[in-house]
Amino acid sequence: MSHVVIVGTGIIGLSTARALLSDGHVVTLVDRNPAGDKASFGNAGGLGVTEIVPASVPGLIWKIPGWLIDPLGPLSLRPGHFPKLVPWLLRFMKSGSRQEMLRITSALAALTAPVYDDFLPMLDELGMSHELHRVGALWVYETEAGFAADATDRALRRSHGGIFEEMDGDEARRLEPALGKNVVRAALTPQWSHFSDPKRVMDRLREQVASRGGKIVQGEAVAIAGTAVELSDGTKLPFERMVIAAGAWSARLAATIGDRVMVESERGYNITIPDSGVCLTREVIFAERKFVATPMDIGLRIGGAAEFAGLDAPANYARSDALAALAHLYLPGLKTEGGTRWMGHRPTTPDSLPVIGPSSNRPDVIHAHGHSHIGLTLGPTTGRLVADLIAGRTTAIDLAPFSASRFS
Ligand SMILES: Cc1cc2nc3c(=O)[nH]c(=O)nc-3n(C[C@H](O)[C@H](O)[C@H](O)COP(=O)(O)OP(=O)(O)OC[C@H]3O[C@@H](n4cnc5c(N)ncnc54)[C@H](O)[C@@H]3O)c2cc1C
Repeated sequence: MSHVVIVGTGIIGLSTARALLSDGHVVTLVDRNPAGDKASFGNAGGLGVTEIVPASVPGLIWKIPGWLIDPLGPLSLRPGHFPKLVPWLLRFMKSGSRQEMLRITSALAALTAPVYDDFLPMLDELGMSHELHRVGALWVYETEAGFAADATDRALRRSHGGIFEEMDGDEARRLEPALGKNVVRAALTPQWSHFSDPKRVMDRLREQVASRGGKIVQGEAVAIAGTAVELSDGTKLPFERMVIAAGAWSARLAATIGDRVMVESERGYNITIPDSGVCLTREVIFAERKFVATPMDIGLRIGGAAEFAGLDAPANYARSDALAALAHLYLPGLKTEGGTRWMGHRPTTPDSLPVIGPSSNRPDVIHAHGHSHIGLTLGPTTGRLVADLIAGRTTAIDLAPFSASRFS
């Protein structure tokens, strides 16, 4: 058994710690703010098991200028960050060929296939099975053209087992009476589910990891030097094996051992409205405008947006307000006052594939990051795969598409 140091106490780091503790390893986790805010807390809370089609797809390039013109539209890019983003963008465009889209979709389908097999036992152990609502998700459309335009996407997901029950606006309103008349078409994906509050799951998981012997250290990891993780205060945490699970910050740490990984911060926003005046049963995805609303215990969470501005730029919370205003178009009864606004960093690769596997330079260092829009969904599955790698077990999934070396 090894002493494993994991950087990051998000869903990926904690799920990995849990799997490694089960294998009998000694585990130390380090995070600059172990219990503090992170993408794993404020996300939309969905287990998006059919989210297997990459962000870069054929024809996307023609939509981008229109999105960028709208300052509060689904995509924004801060000009000051553009020069740093160029290599990532070039790789993103390269991933948008039909052949690449099909390859990436197959890889993500393999990775998402065991999500419930990995998540449900973990929730059971945490005593939190009741926090997951297995009621599906509803894609809603304002136009017939928008619905028709997504037919190819639905067909691709169906070819990998995705279920989409197509319906008209009235049927959608029978399922979700809060939807307005502007909804003309919809598709129900029964395989999705959502959490009452992802932060609550994270808090319980962190407690469980600690109670099983995982040591949680507060500190900023600045480098991997030899066989130790160096913290900003000079502390060195020695390891036999090490896992980079630092979310959107992972590329910085990977660079200290000469690994080039293209993980960018894709900043997302939300607003959680406790007294929204709207009752939804399931997560609703506003497909044409690319945002979602999830009914949580803590209120209606309305979230989305993809903002490329780097890790350090201040948040633009006008985006949260814009999402609430957009949601009002679909949910006429929505009261937008009194919400809590939030921004988080999705760790996003240009090919939409996470990075899971050994370092290109150091077999004792394992990458586990870059999960983009589905990091919550893939947390326990990633943890199990990393534990398999460290134990020298054959992984049930071919990890070649997720290798860090694809960026070198
Ligand atoms: C608006 C929004 C909605 C989303 N909705 C969903 C959804 O519905 N379903 C889904 O599956 N996913 C969703 N996601 C994506 C998901 O939240 C992320 O993919 C996931 O949380 C990433 O987890 P992580 O553990 O890799 O990173 P994080 O949760 O960001 O954790 C990384 C941790 O590493 C720490 N860290 C980083 N660098 C260092 C360092 N050098 N030293 C010490 N500590 C460090 C950070 O402090 C942080 O705590 C959403 C994301 C956003 C932003």
